[in-house]
Amino acid sequence: MNISGLVDKLKNCPCGREHTVNIRAVEIGAGVRERTGEILKSNGFPTKILVAADKNTLAAAGDIPQILEQSGFAIQLKVYDNMRTAHMDDVNHIVSLLGGVDGVLSVGSGSLNDICRLAAFRADKAFAIFATAPSMDGFASDSASITDNNFKLSYASRQPSVIIGDTKVLAAAPSELKSAGFGDMIAKYIAIADWKLSHLITGEYYCENVAEITRTALKRVVSLADKVTQNDEESAGAIMEALVLTGIAMKLGHSVRPASGAEHIVSHFWEIKKLERGLTSDFHGKKVGVATVMINRIYKQICTAAVPSRFSDENLDWGKIYEVYGGNFADDIKNLNSPTVTDETTVDIIRENWDEICRIMQDELPSDEELTAIMHLAGAAVTLPEISVSDELGLLGLEYHPYMRRRMTLARLAPMLNVRVDYKKAAGINA
Ligand SMILES: [Zn+2]
Ligand SMILES: [Zn+2]
Repeated sequence: MNISGLVDKLKNCPCGREHTVNIRAVEIGAGVRERTGEILKSNGFPTKILVAADKNTLAAAGDIPQILEQSGFAIQLKVYDNMRTAHMDDVNHIVSLLGGVDGVLSVGSGSLNDICRLAAFRADKAFAIFATAPSMDGFASDSASITDNNFKLSYASRQPSVIIGDTKVLAAAPSELKSAGFGDMIAKYIAIADWKLSHLITGEYYCENVAEITRTALKRVVSLADKVTQNDEESAGAIMEALVLTGIAMKLGHSVRPASGAEHIVSHFWEIKKLERGLTSDFHGKKVGVATVMINRIYKQICTAAVPSRFSDENLDWGKIYEVYGGNFADDIKNLNSPTVTDETTVDIIRENWDEICRIMQDELPSDEELTAIMHLAGAAVTLPEISVSDELGLLGLEYHPYMRRRMTLARLAPMLNVRVDYKKAAGINA
């Protein structure tokens, strides 16, 4: 992937802001595994490193430790049994292992990368990733989601300097993980629509060139939907590239906007409410894909039913909102909503821009039929039972998620539009 070419194209961008990345190299292709040591070295990565993996990812990556040793690396190996949830204890443990080395190579995806990303940041060591599954878009991220005492928080972390993905390894990943990666990409439909909406009615920063990077990556992934579950190197490589690109787009766009909209907040709501009860959630991209299908339906409902003359200032029952979040989260929700994000716009602004808002939704979002069809083709989940979320929790998330972020989305506007949203219908729950 030509990172400097990408950044060069964004020089003197009309959006008025500078676009930069810290990543030095992204190498995705056939047979790059054998060149891992060489790729790391040529990008200035240190040779005294910790290699962190779990039993599954190490098996998937094959003889990476030997390949590195043959290239002159001195490695220490840390292998977990099965890394599903990134805990702060694991971060602290990795930090303690980094004393005698200069960098860490995470062999895996998701949680393992997040642990190493934060540990590298805290210990001030170099960080690189050898990806084993195209399962989510966090590879290029500079923040990590870590669980501590049944709470999940985002921490400022180290962006990897090098990301390596061998298409043979990626294609052989479990299809559930590849379908989850597809779900995380599908979310970009909503992400871009919400970003443009916010730009229009709150004046939030927006860059069309960065949005276009995401759109192009999304289109490519959608065109390969039928190959996602197959052991197909082209589609696995393309999905991996798309995921890394949207991660880079977040850095370029100075926010999570190019990759995440209302659907990510919904997924997060489901996750924290399950975690509060000590229950682990399904794969990130799998949940996000389900939330995307449902938010897409809600946005269609809103655009069909909204009548500008009925728009009004919102009259929210904050007591009910705090009650839904419960004692563990009520204070955070209060903070996030003082002031609340709708204070950044007015009924008049929304009314004046309503036609344009619906045009954005029309242009950016697929039809429900189209979306569910490509999700099925890609083997991705579209219903609550598939992600072990109860109907009750599912509906709460769809209705109450907007208050857990200070972020403008069409979902957050619903109370001002006085539209009666049929959440059950959106969730595909039969009355
Ligand atoms: Zn720009
Ligand atoms: Zn995501």
